[in-house]
Amino acid sequence: MVVATHRPSRVLIDEGAIFHNVQSAVNSLDAGSELFAVVKADAYGHGLVRVARVAVKAGARGFCVAVLDEALALREAGFTQPILVLGIVNPEYAGLAAAQQIAVPVAERTWLEAAAAHIASGDQLRVHLAVDSGMGRIGFTAKEDLQAAVAFMDAHAETFEFSGIFTHFASADSLNEDQFKRQAAMFNEFVAALPRRPRYVHVANTATSLWHRACHSNIVRFGVGIYGLNPSGREISTTPYALEPALSLKSELVLCKQVAAGATISYGATYHSAQAEYIGTVPMGYADGWLRRMQGFHVLVDGQQCEIVGRICMDQFMIRLPHAYPAGTEVVLVGKSGDQEITLQDVADYAETIHYEIACALSERLPRVSINSVQ
Ligand SMILES: *Cc1c(COP(=O)(O)O)cnc(C)c1O
Repeated sequence: MVVATHRPSRVLIDEGAIFHNVQSAVNSLDAGSELFAVVKADAYGHGLVRVARVAVKAGARGFCVAVLDEALALREAGFTQPILVLGIVNPEYAGLAAAQQIAVPVAERTWLEAAAAHIASGDQLRVHLAVDSGMGRIGFTAKEDLQAAVAFMDAHAETFEFSGIFTHFASADSLNEDQFKRQAAMFNEFVAALPRRPRYVHVANTATSLWHRACHSNIVRFGVGIYGLNPSGREISTTPYALEPALSLKSELVLCKQVAAGATISYGATYHSAQAEYIGTVPMGYADGWLRRMQGFHVLVDGQQCEIVGRICMDQFMIRLPHAYPAGTEVVLVGKSGDQEITLQDVADYAETIHYEIACALSERLPRVSINSVQ
């Protein structure tokens, strides 16, 4: 996608905040545990390579990504740390993963059988067996099948390395711990049924690392916390260390005009000015990931909340200003202005979703610019 560098709209990424968040999580690890930085989906919209580099400086020892291409992008950028793909990879690409020392999750013995033919002799594929303890997404649900997969890898030890076992919690971010406890108990049983413990045993996402002591694991898959976001949204407000939001979203007015009473604004003419009003135009829209449903929300100009009036267009939207401002005046969509602040959580609340989705939706057209660079 074309990146709009000749437009004032941009995503600012605070590298110092990322460093702080990762370092705080590393400092709170149990002895013998390592932090793997989850940088899938372009590091939750924050920029894959930038975040990976800062995370390593702050003590991350490996990476998790969602798809093989993200792992390959990290290798291409020169990262030599362990990388685990979290989603099922087509067995056809097992050879590619093996050659690049990229670990993959496996949820079926038949996957191993299909993959074996694609792995060059001399290469070994690192496998993390997934246990579905209640997420219902990927993983073994029967101990016998898990054991059969280990037996298959042992019988083809030149091709496969049984490198890890893991599970994923569906509700580690919830005050109610029933589901969490059920899943932890099941996972521990599955680990106990193994002929031996692999190098990596892991269960913890950010929420688990913040609020639970669970299982004898030795990697934390630290995701949303890197970016300074609370995985529970507003449900659990206390965290063992401060999370510093890394992302802000800024633009500038490209136009400010006075309209007469009764003027209509944007598609569908859903907004009518009640009186003579100042209307500003902001060069960002739903194609940038500023969702159409943000109509009626507000942005910050000069430390004041200004309502978004009329429908969000693909590339522009309009706001009502208290008085005239020149083109080039800063508009804050996420971040601070004066003593006001809009967080990704505020945006998510208005959009009736979670901050993860808002961050990931910010499109590639928006340039990512580092601030407080970590050298
Ligand atoms: C995305 C993901 C994580 C990271 O989750 P956060 O809530 O962002 O910490 C960890 N593990 C798995 C399997 C995931 O898919």
